[in-house]
Amino acid sequence: MNGVKWLLFMCIAFLHGYVWCRTIFLEVNSPTLEELGFMRRYGYLPEEQGDFDFAYTPHSISEAVKKMQLFAGLPPTGNLDPVTRSFFKKKRCGVKDISSPSRNRRYILQQGWGKKIISYRVLNGSSTLDKERVRTLMADGLAVWAPHGGLRFQQQDDGHADIQVSFASRDHGDGFPFDGPGHVVAHAFPPPHGAMHFDDDELWGDGTSDDTDDDITDFFAVAVHEIGHALGLSHSNVKSSVMYPYYQVPVEKLHMDDILGMQELYLKDELPSSAESTESPSQSRSSLAPHFTKADYSDEEDLPDLCFTNYDTIQVIQGKIYVFEEEWVWVLSERQRIDPGFPRRFHDVFIGLPKHVTSIKTVYEKRNGNIAVFSGRVYWEFSSTFRLLRRGKLSDYGLPRYLPGLSTVFVSNYNNKTYLIEHERYWRYDEDRGRMDPGYPKEMSAWRLVPYPVDAAIIWQGDTYFFHGPRFWRFDNELVQAHRYYPLPTAQIWFPCEPTPEMGKYVTNDEP
Ligand SMILES: [Zn+2]
Ligand SMILES: [Zn+2]
Repeated sequence: MNGVKWLLFMCIAFLHGYVWCRTIFLEVNSPTLEELGFMRRYGYLPEEQGDFDFAYTPHSISEAVKKMQLFAGLPPTGNLDPVTRSFFKKKRCGVKDISSPSRNRRYILQQGWGKKIISYRVLNGSSTLDKERVRTLMADGLAVWAPHGGLRFQQQDDGHADIQVSFASRDHGDGFPFDGPGHVVAHAFPPPHGAMHFDDDELWGDGTSDDTDDDITDFFAVAVHEIGHALGLSHSNVKSSVMYPYYQVPVEKLHMDDILGMQELYLKDELPSSAESTESPSQSRSSLAPHFTKADYSDEEDLPDLCFTNYDTIQVIQGKIYVFEEEWVWVLSERQRIDPGFPRRFHDVFIGLPKHVTSIKTVYEKRNGNIAVFSGRVYWEFSSTFRLLRRGKLSDYGLPRYLPGLSTVFVSNYNNKTYLIEHERYWRYDEDRGRMDPGYPKEMSAWRLVPYPVDAAIIWQGDTYFFHGPRFWRFDNELVQAHRYYPLPTAQIWFPCEPTPEMGKYVTNDEP
């Protein structure tokens, strides 16, 4: 069947009786009209254009499929393989994944409620879940979010509440009709609208029924997600986050991505704006970091404290976070969790590294699993067991001989290329081909909203993060700019550090 082409005519009838047709040749795995509808509806393909140009090119469709795959956490092949196709039919939230592309996107800010006490009202129940039960489950769902925004929710029985919860089917008057059983199960509107609608054609369960029954949709799991929208959050492409658009059960806890969104919407303004603030830490401020673990620092007096000093660099090696400062290295298996036995002197970890190397400015795990440690114009390459293999020069990468050193090296998970950054410029190296890509160096300003020089760049759990001084940014590879919730303070999010008055200064790009 491969290589067979289909002919698709798209015709638009005009008022005067003219008929315009567009012809497109599509590969055999071309999307169905239903799948095209999905990609339009959730923001992956542009809406119908004013000039009636309905004809999506094979390229634009494949790009849309890639975006959809990236958002779903699938490999971005651009091909409509069976796994990808299954996502078009999955139960999910009806809210768009990607808002309409706009040049001014950075100015379309999400908003919260602008207050701490928010009312809610349950208008009705469903055929399988009575109103009283819905009210209880809503209260449970709201309680999941409340501590992360310092919010209080008040239930009310009549009058207009901020968040109005109801069940409805098909067309229910808001311009977003439901689709009967399956696929879209609910949607919700951001503040100041705040309505949450659940599709009454679903069989709603409350977790007590058999979870293996695919026909039952768990109300609590969907409600926790929709509450996120009603509080102002958009969809996340982090699969383990609550704001991931596809239906997932069970929902046990919020992901760091959900929590960061709440901090941005509800806590950012409360953080002290200057060090002069004399306020004592408030309840909500301490909720910024819900689970601190105290690091087991040794008695060594000269040991730097990650909460109060800068670090030289951070990198992810073999799935763990390595933090370098002076002659020390900390290894963390998770954010905020330092592995037992660390920090250690890095000379005890990188066996064979010359003694004259007193700090590590950048390090990365190569595509072949070896680890390269950089200092000035040279680097040392270690095996995956941290034994020295060889010494090399920056010029081995094809970098200019006069280059005094690099500030950051990392391998992008977006294209598997190695980025070699020197302050304001960067080069891109193809490790598989063993050569520098043409057209480099380029200016760091291409990485929009990320200040440079960057001290470190890492890929952690599928996301790209940049670090500079006490701040870090999550980078959106699709938009080629920093994600809107950032920067955030590095010490409190990555290391086991208590909140400090200073951290409030690290949620904006303005240097102190
Ligand atoms: Zn949603
Ligand atoms: Zn609705």
